[in-house]
Amino acid sequence: NQSLINQAAELIKTSRGVYVLTGAGMSTESGIPDFRSDSGYYAKFDPVQALNVDVMLGNPKRFYAEGYEILKDLNNREPNDGHRALADMERQGFIQGIITQNIDNLHAKAGSRTIFEVHGETRGVHCLACGVEAPFKVLAEKVDSGEIPPRCDVCGGVLRSNVVMFGDAMPDTFAQAVEAVTHSELLIVVGSSLSVSPVNFLPRYAKHLIIINKTPTPADRFSDVVIHDGAGETLCAVYRALSEGYHD
Ligand code: NAD
Repeated sequence: NQSLINQAAELIKTSRGVYVLTGAGMSTESGIPDFRSDSGYYAKFDPVQALNVDVMLGNPKRFYAEGYEILKDLNNREPNDGHRALADMERQGFIQGIITQNIDNLHAKAGSRTIFEVHGETRGVHCLACGVEAPFKVLAEKVDSGEIPPRCDVCGGVLRSNVVMFGDAMPDTFAQAVEAVTHSELLIVVGSSLSVSPVNFLPRYAKHLIIINKTPTPADRFSDVVIHDGAGETLCAVYRALSEGYHD
């Protein structure tokens, strides 16, 4: 395994432009279930249905009984060693930034600065009619007191989370992420099954690829380095190799 860590560190050091694409496996060590592991959300219900824009608008009672529970759960978590290692790598200039599918805000909490949140975030909500923005707790208070769907105080329109649901259009940050990957030399994928489209196309745009994931992904076969191990431990080892030189 140390030889894979060293190969990864070498590729990072010699690449001009390095971005990291993170998924739910990045945050399981912070106590947030992913979608597709045995203990993931899929064991309870289908997130593609639960976090679906058509369900949110057409059957809000179901949305606020299922998908909303995932969103609500994410606001009080803390970053883990892997998030901190990535923030350190950015500070030291080893990586340029992070593209995250996660909606838990943990990269920002750990101190990362350049973050493309391609699936939105759980910090805020907005009104579908007038566009006014508000913190998540405004929506949470309404939902918890039985106001479903929650409505805007300004115009009475429907309030919704800033999270990108299944069936939503991708935000502008996704186009920026594609641009960043296309103009860089290396993409490091951490903790993603690479099964959610269109984010799972990003590895195809990368010149070089490192995968750090507990289980195999569809991109393993065209990657330069594949490490099937935990995100926190592996990223700390890669950061040590980058900053202290290599250990054999
Ligand atoms: P996924 O559940 O499809 O895949 C997660 C992958 O991470 C799996 O292949 C699993 O083997 C791996 N993994 C789990 N724990 C790991 C660890 N400690 N170290 C390394 N690998 C680990 O998740 P996805 O590909 O991100 O797609 C699911 C979608 O739902 C994404 O949009 C995702 O971000 C979102 N989601 C977000 C959160 C969050 O914000 N924390 C949580 C659940 C789902």
